[in-house]
Amino acid sequence: MVKLLLVDDAVFARDFLLAILAEVDSRIELTWRSDYATGLDGLVHGGFDVCLLDYQLADRSGLDLLREAKARGVRLPIIMLTGHGSKELDHEAMHAGAADYLVKGDFTAQSLERVVRYLLERTRADEARRDSEERYALAMEGSNDGLWDWRVGEAQVHFSSRWKRILGFEPDELPDLIESWWERVHADDRFRLRQDFDGHLRGSTTPHFENEHRLRHQDGTWRHVLVRGKAVRDEQGQATRMAGSLTDVTMARSRDPLTGLANRVLYLDRLEHAFHRAARDPTYRFALLFIDLDRFKNINDSLGHDAGDELLVAIARRLEGCVRLVDTVARLGGDEFVILLDESREPDGATRVANRIIEELGRAFLVASRELFTGASIGIALFDSHYKTPGELLRDADTAMYRAKADGRGRFVIFDAAMHARALHVLSVESGLRRALESKELEVFYQPVIAMGSGQPLGFEALVRWRHPERGLVSPADFIPVAEDSSLIVLLDLHVLRTAAAQLKAWRDEFKLDLHISVNASRRHFSRNEYASDVQQALDGAGLQASALRLEVTESVTMDLPSLARAQLQQLHALGVQLYVDDFGVGYSSLSMLHTYPFSGLKLDRSFVAGLDGASASTEIVRAILAIAQALRLDVVAEGVETLGQHEALMALGCTRAQGFRYARPMPAADAAQWLASKR
Ligand code: C2E
Ligand code: MG
Ligand code: MG
Repeated sequence: MVKLLLVDDAVFARDFLLAILAEVDSRIELTWRSDYATGLDGLVHGGFDVCLLDYQLADRSGLDLLREAKARGVRLPIIMLTGHGSKELDHEAMHAGAADYLVKGDFTAQSLERVVRYLLERTRADEARRDSEERYALAMEGSNDGLWDWRVGEAQVHFSSRWKRILGFEPDELPDLIESWWERVHADDRFRLRQDFDGHLRGSTTPHFENEHRLRHQDGTWRHVLVRGKAVRDEQGQATRMAGSLTDVTMARSRDPLTGLANRVLYLDRLEHAFHRAARDPTYRFALLFIDLDRFKNINDSLGHDAGDELLVAIARRLEGCVRLVDTVARLGGDEFVILLDESREPDGATRVANRIIEELGRAFLVASRELFTGASIGIALFDSHYKTPGELLRDADTAMYRAKADGRGRFVIFDAAMHARALHVLSVESGLRRALESKELEVFYQPVIAMGSGQPLGFEALVRWRHPERGLVSPADFIPVAEDSSLIVLLDLHVLRTAAAQLKAWRDEFKLDLHISVNASRRHFSRNEYASDVQQALDGAGLQASALRLEVTESVTMDLPSLARAQLQQLHALGVQLYVDDFGVGYSSLSMLHTYPFSGLKLDRSFVAGLDGASASTEIVRAILAIAQALRLDVVAEGVETLGQHEALMALGCTRAQGFRYARPMPAADAAQWLASKR
């Protein structure tokens, strides 16, 4: 039911209304007041939804009543009842705050209802908006957010004082222009911001505009801000205005929650800042220290994460104690800490700080009522003008840190020119190799494996060579280690495998010999899950049966990742591929590995063969290895046989298969084919 108040001095007006309302099944409930005072009382206290007000009351003007009601804060919609042709009056009424007007005696129940319903809806919408605006204003008063308000398309924008203060400006310092905002946005964040902003303006699906980006503070640092907003639209849905808030979330984004140290984001900001400063001021010097904790993983695994966390916090405090306030200590994650050291006043500050840290972190920590010992390896990179980006400095500090660890932990290493040269060498080999893989500079050589008694070929070992355009034929010892540091080795090995498998298939067909091909497999494959299927594909591609392939792996494969490696080896074995241990005897030589993994044989390392010439312990070692192999039914191939003496000694010990310069060197495919033909 809609409660309608009629204020009119004429009784017939009331009767007319009642009559037309009775005509239809109206949902309007009518109350009648006939004079100014009771009318006003009804408007202020009556709890009506809508009012029909005659413009001329007996005692006073209806317009006056309208004005007074509005002045008293009456919000319900008031419709003026006017006479014919009183345009000016209509106008005046609307101006005084009437919601609408109707011409007396000239409306039907339906048109009245329509007007009333429309007015009620509009009032409700207004009310809701007013409510939310009040709530918004309240929320803003109590918050730390900055506010902005923009008329779409204009250069001007309103920024609240707090908005400017977030960026370090006084209210009158930053021009109220939309450009003041855009030009301070970090280049990497610009695109997303414009996308979100324009998307919302255009009326995309998002009901709110929201974006997080970095803004340049007056002091040159970056603040992380969260901006929210909403567009106001006209009837066509065009945005006319957009307003919202700006929240400084730098703290949340820049601190490591566990230790309270700077996190990676803040630290990179500071580093970038240091680079800028150095560009302006040539006397400015700084250093980067990369700190890696020794044995942290061990402690974490054995005592649990809570203890690990406690230790990290304690370490953070000691690190802070080793530096001054101007320096930045950051935790990059896990047990990796870095320090950005201002060196302007103390040229050898970095080494002194590094020494102090090593000493401090070497002392016992009391965690979970235990005394724990850790320690640190530190890599240091000193800034100088040849560094163009923070990334380069970071990389060098990291390289130096690995050197420190390799040199035996608990020490620091300063990145120097020699390390730089080595890093450059690795880089150039790596990019050269990449090119080589594409331009077919990699070639496969074949070294025969023979039956020692008859000298007949049993198969070949495939050995990669790099036919370098300038350096000539490069041996694998010069590039395999580099390739193994990256995923390049995977591509390289697969290339060799495919080439060698196809070559062997051709020779088996041509020479009608049951030859095998041995291919070296880097340990890298065994931390991947795809190796077995890669091998299967290579065999399928070449049309070669699996049993003709021998994969040579070093013992280290079973040490790195025992369970992953086991699964891979088992899969390969299931395919029918034969697995051999390469360089047997020099590595960790765990005998248990020989029978717990599906190996078919082993390659006796060249160093034992070399020792067979004179009287040495080698003879006994080789005898023992051969005995073990026989007991475990493993095949043995001797490697690196160069002399007749070695050949005879091996024969005498019962070794029957071998490979070595004495029989044939590794050779290009064409030469190997000739060699095969000569053996027929
Ligand atoms: P390896 O698998 O133990 O290969 C045997 C190495 O001994 C080869 O060196 C071979 O040329 C050399 N050799 C053979 N007979 C004699 C001999 O009588 N005397 C002497 N002094 N040496 C002999 P190469 O070709 O320089 O390869 C070195 C290593 O590089 C290989 O050792 C293998 O570990 C690795 N390698 C070679 N090709 C590949 C490949 O395609 N992939 C992977 N992952 N590693 C490879
Ligand atoms: Mg080998
Ligand atoms: Mg070998």
